[in-house]
Amino acid sequence: MALVVQKYGGTSVANMAKIENVAAKVIRTKEAGNQVVVVLSAMAGETDRLINLAHSAADHPDEREYDALISTGEQVTVSLLAMVLNKMGHPARSFLGFQVKILTDRAYKKARIVNIDTKAIKHELKKGTIVIVAGFQGVDPDNNVTTLGRGGSDTSAVALAAALHADVCDIFTDVDGVYTTDPNICSKARRLSKITYDEMLEMARLGAKVLQPRSVEMAKKYQVPLYVRSSFTDEGGTLVTKGDKDMEKEVVSGVTYDRDQAKITVVHVPDRPGIAARLFTPLAEHNIVVDMIIQNASIDGFTDLTFTASRKDLKEATRLVEEAGKDIGAQKVEVDQHVAKISIVGVGMVSHSGVAAKMFATLAREGINILMISTSDIKISCVVQAKYTELAVMVLHDAFELEKRA
Ligand code: ASP
Ligand code: MG
Repeated sequence: MALVVQKYGGTSVANMAKIENVAAKVIRTKEAGNQVVVVLSAMAGETDRLINLAHSAADHPDEREYDALISTGEQVTVSLLAMVLNKMGHPARSFLGFQVKILTDRAYKKARIVNIDTKAIKHELKKGTIVIVAGFQGVDPDNNVTTLGRGGSDTSAVALAAALHADVCDIFTDVDGVYTTDPNICSKARRLSKITYDEMLEMARLGAKVLQPRSVEMAKKYQVPLYVRSSFTDEGGTLVTKGDKDMEKEVVSGVTYDRDQAKITVVHVPDRPGIAARLFTPLAEHNIVVDMIIQNASIDGFTDLTFTASRKDLKEATRLVEEAGKDIGAQKVEVDQHVAKISIVGVGMVSHSGVAAKMFATLAREGINILMISTSDIKISCVVQAKYTELAVMVLHDAFELEKRA
């Protein structure tokens, strides 16, 4: 008998018919002789609706109440699924975060799981009950409801799988696995049968939307085998796992894009110790994540500093660097919102040379100008003008022959 954790995303529980479909899949897994823990998201669109409601109540909603509100979508789906399963003669019981107890830190809107008490769940499983847990939510040391960040039910599922030492964690979603790139942009995209944790983590961070990056981090840390698969077909699926020799032979596994990028340049800054600290400390203090940074070589004692951040932070970031810029004698701040980050990812890059050169040459051939570059062991990212996003993805997918992957 295996212990299986299954997570179903918002599109898989979007209405009663879909919840019945989930019930049928859960029952099949149970009847195959497994213990089943199900983790659910809210119905598709529900969390957005709740967030809008919060912002109609107040410009800056109280964070405690915000999390109390936006966590409620999951309460609806878990209890509905439990009702359906019970009606069909399969004992099931729903749990909210605080009932399990999924203990988190106090960081509303982006809480981290600190500990999961598995006693109640194990007790139910032993009786043969199907356990259904609300994703995305936890409870802090003072019993306040917290949420784990958008897409957080992936992390709930992986954390439960780790805590329960589950044999597998299935992530059911509206696509049948992880693709070499977004099939909506590139018709030659191929589903990968396997991908390493590290590659998946980079792809999730760099804009692939299948999994919340934090869930992949956790799966890697606790070596939870993750299966990404479709709720609507039994075919396909991608296993996210630790690397092996075969997987390392492939130079590139995926091409990602992220349109949620803005580029900010602080022009003509006197080049002296402390300027970078003066510019970036206020951003850090306001929890603004800065992605790529470049500082140009200084000419006559002046330099330009360019960095990227998420578009949603652009207004605040600009205000903060304009303020700091005045202090340090910068000439002006320039903003470009029409940029995108295109990346190639692959564990095999470490042992192959010429990968970056090939990426740059491929973009150059199409007349795509590279505005910024950053690299790590397993990824290379280029910031380009946003209008080239689709073209860049397609030509890179071709250049690295990703249509041959499987
Ligand atoms: N319902 C939450 C969201 O929309 C959590 C999730 O779907 O994973 O972000
Ligand atoms: Mg999701």
